Parts: sequence; C-alpha cells; structure tokens
Amino acid sequence: MDKKIVDAVVEALYSGWITTGPRTKRFEKMLTAQGGQQTTLCVNSATAGLELVLHWYGVGPGDEVIVPAYTYNATANVVVHCGAKVVFADAGADFNISVEAIERAITSRTKVIIPVDIGGYPCNYDEINELVGQQEVRTLFQADTPAQKQLGRILVLSDAAHSLGAWYKGKRVGSLTDITVYSFHAVKNLTTAEGGAICFNLPAPFDNQKIYERLNIKSLHGQTKDALAKSQVGNWRYDIVEAGYKCNMTDIQAAMGIVELERYDTDMLPRRKAIFHRYSNALKNYKWVQLPPFETPEKTSSYHVFALRIKGITEEQRDQIIAGIFTREVAVNVHFVPLPMMTYYKDAGYRMPDYPVSYDNYSREITLPVYYDLTDEMVDTVVQAVVEAMEEEMRQPGRNP
Ligand SMILES: *Cc1c(COP(=O)(O)O)cnc(C)c1O
Repeated sequence: MDKKIVDAVVEALYSGWITTGPRTKRFEKMLTAQGGQQTTLCVNSATAGLELVLHWYGVGPGDEVIVPAYTYNATANVVVHCGAKVVFADAGADFNISVEAIERAITSRTKVIIPVDIGGYPCNYDEINELVGQQEVRTLFQADTPAQKQLGRILVLSDAAHSLGAWYKGKRVGSLTDITVYSFHAVKNLTTAEGGAICFNLPAPFDNQKIYERLNIKSLHGQTKDALAKSQVGNWRYDIVEAGYKCNMTDIQAAMGIVELERYDTDMLPRRKAIFHRYSNALKNYKWVQLPPFETPEKTSSYHVFALRIKGITEEQRDQIIAGIFTREVAVNVHFVPLPMMTYYKDAGYRMPDYPVSYDNYSREITLPVYYDLTDEMVDTVVQAVVEAMEEEMRQPGRNP
C-alpha cells in the first residue's frame, strides 16, 4: 500500500460512485487483457466466484466435485455449500493435484474438477484438459442442466487464487481452462483487501459474453440492471430473473486493483521473483533442503508462496524447526494443513492416510515470507534463522543428521 493506491481510493470515494461502476468495469478489461481469457467478471472474493460458477453449472445434491486434498478450505467449502459431495484427490511432489489421482476419482457423478495452482505454480493443464475430453470420460458424464448438456463433459474450474500472472506453455493463467477464478484477498499477490474475479474461457458454442452477463446478474440478486444502469434517465424499471446472490465488487476495491495491475508485471512480480531467487541461491547447497518448483521450461510461477521442504523429517521435527525459527524473531507459516486433517472434513469421514503425498508435503513444509517490501537483508535474516533452527534440530539426541 502506497500513496498511489491511497490517492486512487480517495479519488474513487469522491467520484460520486463507490459501488460497482466504471472502475470495476475498467479493472475487468485490464484483467482480460493480461490473462488472455474471453472476458472477466469481478466479484467480492474468490470463494464467491467459485460458488457462483458451481451454481451456474447446476452443481447440487448427488453431484461430485474433485478438489485437491492439499489446498485452502475455500476450494472445498463451496462444494459443500452447493450440497454436492467433495471428492479429494491427492497431490503430486510439486504440491499440485495429481492427474492420476483425478483420473482415479472420476465417476459418473463428477461434474467439476477444481485444480489449484499451489503457491502460484500452474497445474498440468494440458493433461487435465485432455483427460476431461477423453471419449470414455465424456461417455461417463451425465448432463443434467442446459450448461452441462452444452459442454458435454466435466467442467475444469481452476482456482488461481495464488497464480495471477503465472505462465504455462506460453499462455497465462486465466486462459488455461474453461473458467479460472482469482483472489484479491489481502494475502495474495495483488490485493483489493477482499475481492476476486471470474475469467471465462469456455469453448464454442458458448458465448462467454452472455455468460458474463448472466453471472453479473447472478452476483446482484438476479436483478436485470445494476445501480449504475438504473441511475440513468428513464431507466429505473428492472426485473428479478432469479433468486441471485450478492457478491459484486465495489469501485473502491477496483481502484486499488487498477493501480496494482498497472505495475504488476513491471514491478510487483519481478520483486517476488528476485526474492524467490535469493532464497533458492542461499538454500540450494544444504543437503537437507528441497526447493519448491517455480521455474521450468514450461511453467513460470507467480512466486506467491515459497514452500520450502526439509528432507527426511517428521511433522513433529518440522514443528520444532518452526518453533526455532520463531525464537529468532522470524515469522513463517505452513501451506497447507491438508483438508482431511481438519475437524469438519475428518468428521465427514475423510481419512488422511488416503492422501499420502499431501501428508508428506505438509509434514515437511515451511513457508518462508515473500512480499513486496521484504528487503534482501530481511531475506538473509530469514535464511539464517532457518539454517540455525535446522542445525539446532539436527543436534537433538536421536536425530540422524
Ligand atoms: C485465498 C484462497 C481462496 C479464497 O480466496 P478469497 O478471495 O479469500 O475467497 C481460495 N483458494 C485458495 C487456494 C486460496 O489460497
């Protein structure tokens, strides 16, 4: 947050229009230009965006949605809100949902797959898109709603809460699957305090602009005109065409988003990349370090989460190392506690041993801080704290270094 953002917000506040209006529409167009999708609808969170899409596709009781066991709970909670069944799939060594695990989880009830680009590193989208297009998978698919009949297969709804601006085979996140959802929550790469966006990229014969309009109405109580349109001369009458939701973005939020997106590729992303490289260079020669994937010939991360893993440790040892890091006045985190370990999902009958790779990733993971204002000196302090805490752990009796 800097003066430029503060000024943009103040300008929006004094502009005479504070809820969804010209700034939101401009932000949507900028997002479309960046991601390369057909069109983009801003909403008030990624959670609302994901849920809106599930409702649009007609996901409900009796349906199944495949989500990674290793993600933030929003990805799964929206499925519960629709009355459908969450089917967890295990992760791969790159933290992302495993395509083999998706394949095993598909049934005749599967309506949607929600892959998540964990830490900003894109999933294997060619494989996922190819899988849902396979003839036998299509034959298994049971279409119940007009949208399902038109697509004729499982919808790929990408949760790109971490991966705004990431690349996959020369294309940008936003245009890699049928629909992609971004988050602009305060901890994400680009923030509007709270916010999200839905990127539409459905194949022909879908008219993405029409679906944008439909979901825009769905995000505003099913009201055929928004407040801005109603304020125009002679335009007061409107209709309610469905019992919609209320999850539109405000122009105050969009004002922040516009400033950040303007400098995202030239300033914010390069700084995050530099931090990732500094961590990698400082840590790569320790034999206990497993670096996260973030740059390969086919993929470039959005550098959202630096998910360090320590080789050959238990969950208890990882917790000890984190305690040691905090003692050195460095705050770290864990991304993520897998959902089957959470009380709600455990009580619903999911068992962690069914997702061994997710557990292995989680049990050895320590997230190092990455944010725009983190200086090189602070990065070095973090590295020193990690190394000292690790060396302290290795000196524990019974520990085999
Ligand atoms: C943050 C996050 C979300 C939710 O985003 P909101 O905008 O807070 O609703 C969803 N999925 C993942 C993986 C996230 O990290």
